[in-house]
Amino acid sequence: MSRVLALGGFDHVDALSIGGNSPILIQTMWKDPLGFSDLEGKAGEAVVARIAALKRMGCSLLRFAVPDLEAAEVLGNLARMVSMPLVADIHFDYKIALRCLDFPIAKIRINPGNIGSRERVEAVLSRAAAKDRPIRIGVNAGSLPPDLRDKVDSGVLSQAEALVEAAERELAIFREFDFSSCLISMKASSVADTIRANRLLSERTDVPLHIGVTEAGPLIAGVVRNTAALMVLLSEGIGDTIRVSLSDTMEREVIAGREILGCAIDSGGAAAKRAGTQGPGVKIVSCPRCGRNGFDTHGFTEKWQPVLYAMDKNITVAVMGCAVNGPGEARHADLGITGAGDKVLIFRHGKVIRTIDAADADTAFREELAGL
Ligand code: SF4
Repeated sequence: MSRVLALGGFDHVDALSIGGNSPILIQTMWKDPLGFSDLEGKAGEAVVARIAALKRMGCSLLRFAVPDLEAAEVLGNLARMVSMPLVADIHFDYKIALRCLDFPIAKIRINPGNIGSRERVEAVLSRAAAKDRPIRIGVNAGSLPPDLRDKVDSGVLSQAEALVEAAERELAIFREFDFSSCLISMKASSVADTIRANRLLSERTDVPLHIGVTEAGPLIAGVVRNTAALMVLLSEGIGDTIRVSLSDTMEREVIAGREILGCAIDSGGAAAKRAGTQGPGVKIVSCPRCGRNGFDTHGFTEKWQPVLYAMDKNITVAVMGCAVNGPGEARHADLGITGAGDKVLIFRHGKVIRTIDAADADTAFREELAGL
C-alpha cells in the first residue's frame, strides 16, 4: 500500500489526502496558455466558473503548464481565486518552482534530475518541505535519459524497466535530501508498458502513484486505452491519482476518469475499498437510437451531459428514443425522457408523469430534475 500524503488545506485551498486507502483522485490539465488578462473581469469569472464546474464534476486536482516566471505569477493569482488544489507543471527551471512555492499552489511537478546543481535541488526541496508542498516526479517514455534510451534500443532493458529505472534515479535524489512528500508518474502511450512499469514500481516503493496512458489519442481511442490500463492497475490496488489524457476537453477527461473509477469501484477489486464517502453522482443511461426513435437522444444527452455530471445527487437519468421500449427498459431510472411520436414523455421509475411538445423538452426536463 502506498504512503499517505496530505495536500492543500492552507488558505482557502481544499485539503486532500493522497495514497493509502484514501479515495483515488481524478485530475486533468488546463489546455491553453493563461495570461493576466484571462483572470480579469468577465474572462476571469469564466475561468473561475469553469474550474468550479470541473470540481463539481469530480475533478480534485488541476494542473497547469508553467513555462516561465510570468506564468508562475498568473498561476499564483489564480490560486488565490479558487479552492481547487492547483498543480504547477515545471520543466527544468528551479526559479519557477521556487516562485510557485510562494503562492497557495498545492503541488508542483518537477523532476529533481532536471533541476541542475545540488544547490538548486536543495533550494527547491527545502522550500517545498518548509511549505508542506508535495512534489510529483513525472517520467515519460518519450523523454527517457539517453543511456536508458540506448539500453531500450539495444534490448538490454524493456521500456517498462527503463521507466522504472528513470523513476528510481529521481527518487534517489529525493532520498538523498530526505524529502519524502513525493508522488511519481511513469507514463507511456502503450497500454502494456503503462501497466508493466506501474506494477514493477509499486512492488519496489510505497510512493503514491499518479497513473494514466499519455498521448492516448482522440476521445474514443484515448478513453479505450486509458480504460484498458487503468482498470487493470486499479483492480490490483495500484494508483492513487488518475488522469485520462485525451485530445479533447478537460471536462471529457474528468467524465472519462469518473466513469473508469466508477467501473473499477463497482467491479469489486482493490479500488472498491477506496470509494470514499461521496456517492457515485448522476449515472446517465441513454439508448443508442434506432429507426423507432422519435427523439434525438444523442443531441439531448450531449447537451445535458455537463449539467448532469456536475450535479450533487446519486441518481440515474435515462434518455431514451421511443415510448415502445424507453420507459420500460429504463424503469430503474429516477428520471427519464423519451420520444413518443411527435411528443416527448417524461417518466419516473417507468411511470409517465408528463407529456409535452419536443420544443418544451429542455424546460420540462430542467423542472423535473430540480424536483429530485
Ligand atoms: S429505446 Fe427505442 S429508439 Fe432507443 S434503441 Fe431502444 S427501441 Fe430504438
